[in-house]
Amino acid sequence: MPFLPFYRRLRRFPLLFLAAFLLAPLLLAARPPRPKPAPLHLQVRRIAPDVFVHTSYRRYPGKAAPVPSNGLIISTSKGALLIDTAWDPEQTLELLRWVADSLHQRVRLVVISHAHEDRLGGLAVLRANKINVYSTPLTAKRAAKLPFGTPMPAIKPYTVIRAGRTRLELFSPGPGHSPDNLVAWLPKQQILFGGCLVKEAAAPNLGNIDEADLKAWPTTLRTVAARYPKARIVVPGHGQWGSTALFTHTLGLLNALKTPKTQTALNDKP
Ligand SMILES: [Zn+2]
Repeated sequence: MPFLPFYRRLRRFPLLFLAAFLLAPLLLAARPPRPKPAPLHLQVRRIAPDVFVHTSYRRYPGKAAPVPSNGLIISTSKGALLIDTAWDPEQTLELLRWVADSLHQRVRLVVISHAHEDRLGGLAVLRANKINVYSTPLTAKRAAKLPFGTPMPAIKPYTVIRAGRTRLELFSPGPGHSPDNLVAWLPKQQILFGGCLVKEAAAPNLGNIDEADLKAWPTTLRTVAARYPKARIVVPGHGQWGSTALFTHTLGLLNALKTPKTQTALNDKP
């Protein structure tokens, strides 16, 4: 009889459906939970007896490894000076804890090297801890449009901060990675914090160029290279520090941008 198997199937189907419906919550609950991404932690590395690089991290969708971002910690007899916050409030809190636990110091002041999240994303934590945060007027103006807080606009295009025997020079060389990028120079230690104006040797490209001035960047970079020929260590905004070869590498990346256009122009010639 052909009707009987069909009827049986029909009868069986709602039962299966009902069973699945009733079991679904149990099956879903039994599924292993999605692994939570591990929390990101600040890293601190010493590059001179009293100078440290603080590296914080951020995850980007589609990128396997978290992206690192560098700032500076300078230990002085008057307290610690920082260049840039960590990338987020949590890692900035770790930064303050590290200074307190490892240097047994308070953070005296923080200088923001330009108005991007990787430089001032943890500003609220500094405010909450009553730490003074400074930048150039241009950085402060640009930071006011972002949701992280605004530094005090007390840094002139060339400013020297003295704390005990430490001398920290701050210099605005002109537009490059951003219109307001600032570099920091420690003459005694011959360390230059180039920030995002300088790319690490392993960087295959210029990274975030949303607000970059690609035309002015090479000139700005040459200004910095000519001003600090004695730099022993150059710290880029992201990745591994190196020598003044990082200037050449960054100029190379800027030149490579121009090359395709030139080639097209040549190819277009009849
Ligand atoms: Zn930036």
